[in-house]
Amino acid sequence: MRKPIIAGNWKMNGIIAEAEQLSRQVAEQTATYNEVEVVVIPVFTALTKVYDVIKDTHVRLGAQDLFWEEKGAYTGEVSPSMLRDVGCEYVVVGHSERRQYFHETDEDVNKKVKAALSYGLKPIMCIGETLEQREAGLTEQVVIGQLQAGLRDVSTEEVEKIVVAYEPVWAIGTGRTASAEEANRVIGLIRNTVKKLYSEAVGEAIRIQYGGSVKDSNADEIMQQPEIDGCLVGGASLDATAFTAIVAAGAKSVC
Ligand code: PEP
Repeated sequence: MRKPIIAGNWKMNGIIAEAEQLSRQVAEQTATYNEVEVVVIPVFTALTKVYDVIKDTHVRLGAQDLFWEEKGAYTGEVSPSMLRDVGCEYVVVGHSERRQYFHETDEDVNKKVKAALSYGLKPIMCIGETLEQREAGLTEQVVIGQLQAGLRDVSTEEVEKIVVAYEPVWAIGTGRTASAEEANRVIGLIRNTVKKLYSEAVGEAIRIQYGGSVKDSNADEIMQQPEIDGCLVGGASLDATAFTAIVAAGAKSVC
């Protein structure tokens, strides 16, 4: 049985005091949902404070990005060991905003995935098609292409530590959600590809989230889909009550 994982990507929001308050609320309000892995993903500057708040709770800490080198002359970058140092267990890799605004390529994503794994961080690897690609009938080709590129040279032992987040780009922050059935179909396809690349068992074990305008109002329907193991939540994760409702939907899905 795959444990649902609900992760809140706070993006570039929140000074330390706000992140502290939000993480405290999330830890308190989600405390009874032991069936779900809850992850909060604040900005780099708030990681240490948030870790202080959640370290003795069920909530796990994630970062929004990393660089693949260990240290050196890479102004502005943060290494995997630095993220471990401040208590991170997860790291988002290849978010569509990084691909779009910071020109990250599939090759970069693959380097980041491997660097994260080699330092004991669990990557949340984001893949998804744009609206143009969807309308051109390229969804499967794009999503599977990004998946294969991201997993290049990742071993069978390591791959189960990865969480894949299927996030159609056109659904992120737009209020438009893929229908739950459509998200389930694409995620099923991703799972089958992992089975082909690795094994039936690995495909059954790997957790695959949906992301894209998940809210308290649609989380139930999404989480009831058999292939969907969780959500990567942007906007709604900034409200502890809405985020907790999404965690509750995750808990209900395994009842
Ligand atoms: C995201 O940032 O990964 C995301 C899915 O954002 P939103 O929930 O706001 O669409």
